[in-house]
Amino acid sequence: MEWRAAALQNAGMSTAALPLIAIDGPSGVGKSTTAKRVATRLGWQYLDTGAMYRAAALAVRRAGIELSDRGALEHLLASLDLAQEQGRMFLAGEDVSEAIRSPEVTLLVTPVSADARVRELLVDQQRRIGASGRWVVDGRDIGTVVFTGACCKIFLTASPEARAQRRFLELQAKGQTPDFEAVLADLQRRDSADSTRAASPLRKADDATELDSSILNIDQVVEWIVQRHAAHV
Ligand code: C5P
Repeated sequence: MEWRAAALQNAGMSTAALPLIAIDGPSGVGKSTTAKRVATRLGWQYLDTGAMYRAAALAVRRAGIELSDRGALEHLLASLDLAQEQGRMFLAGEDVSEAIRSPEVTLLVTPVSADARVRELLVDQQRRIGASGRWVVDGRDIGTVVFTGACCKIFLTASPEARAQRRFLELQAKGQTPDFEAVLADLQRRDSADSTRAASPLRKADDATELDSSILNIDQVVEWIVQRHAAHV
């Protein structure tokens, strides 16, 4: 798969001054949609690191192991087979793109992604994939940890209410009947967990540019990032 091929080809390369756009920010701010569209505009590839943590959480759930059982976790990580192709997430060859969005995985991904050993493994994979550049990568620690040498770092924010409103409309569009307060509470739970964990907490890199998208639409956000990137090259 192209994802794995890139990882092998780039193994061991330096990550300094990379032509790579890092997009970090809190949950529900629209990083994935934005990153995908920026990648399409530039003819670059897109890496969704949140999907990788979600797939790892799904693997933990399916294996029925506790994170406190370090031996079992090591065993699982040793054979964790992740791949992303054309916007789809694969776990051991199975397309798990829908399964990783379930409420159960969304809850479990918080402790799984806070685990330093899980992060070590996934960060290593992410670095190998993006090392030759021309990637748009979104997550929580891309500009601060994974690709500190990225040429363009964006910290995308929006108020919790604006993010909850977007998520609410998204769920409605899928035919669901969400409760606004529950959607908001879930975002706030994840914000708090992601920002206060010991391993790679969510924070803006010193050299990142912050964009508050509360009153912007997706086209405006994409355009802003593309212009920002053009100014860096
Ligand atoms: O981006 P998404 O919401 O799909 O990410 C799922 C979870 O994975 C986040 O809530 C966060 O806890 C974690 N994550 C992370 N580091 C990243 C990307 C995601 O800790 N680079």
